[in-house]
Amino acid sequence: MTLHPSIDSGFKATDASFSGGTLVCNCTSNPVRVQIKGDIAHNHACGCTKCWKPKGAAFSIVAVAPTDNVEVLENGDKLAVVDPAALIQRHACKDCGVHMYGPVERDHPFKGLSFVHPERFQEEGWAKPGFAAFVSSIIESGYDPAKMDGVRARLREIDLEPYDCLNPGLMDYIATWTAKKSGILSA
Ligand SMILES: [Zn+2]
Ligand SMILES: [Zn+2]
Repeated sequence: MTLHPSIDSGFKATDASFSGGTLVCNCTSNPVRVQIKGDIAHNHACGCTKCWKPKGAAFSIVAVAPTDNVEVLENGDKLAVVDPAALIQRHACKDCGVHMYGPVERDHPFKGLSFVHPERFQEEGWAKPGFAAFVSSIIESGYDPAKMDGVRARLREIDLEPYDCLNPGLMDYIATWTAKKSGILSA
C-alpha cells in the first residue's frame, strides 16, 4: 500500500530547532526555489484531490506557514495559479507540476497562511505529519473503496489519526472564527 513516500519509508526525526528552509520543485534545470522563514505548522497527510502528490501516492504531505514568511527566490516566472477560484491559491511550477506554495487571501480563518509541501524542503528536520485529513477523499482520486479500512488501519499504525475532514483542533478553530464573525460568540 503506497500512502506517500515519506510516510511509507518512516519519518526522519523532527528537529526542534528547524527554522525553515528552501522548497525546490522537481525541475532538473532552473528549478523554482521558495524560501520559508521559520518553522511550519499543522503538518499532515491530506487525501483531497487538490493537493499536489508525488507520483503514485494516495496522500499529500501538507503544512502551513505565514504568507509573510514565504518568498520566491528563483524562477518565479515558472509559477502559475492552478485554480484562481479556489480558496487556496496553489502556485504550481508550469514545467514539473509541483505546487510550491498556496496562500489563502480571501476572508477565511486561514487568511494569511500559505499551504506548502515540506517534502520539497532541501533541508531535513521539518515537523513530521501529525494526522491524516480528508481520508475518504482518496476514493475521489480512484482509490478502491473496499480498501479504506486497511488505509485507516495503516494510518493509525503510524500515528496518523485518520479524519475525513480536518482534525478536531482545526475544525474547532474554523467554527470559532465563523461563530465570532456571525456574532453568536463574542470576539
Ligand atoms: Zn519545476
Ligand atoms: Zn489536500
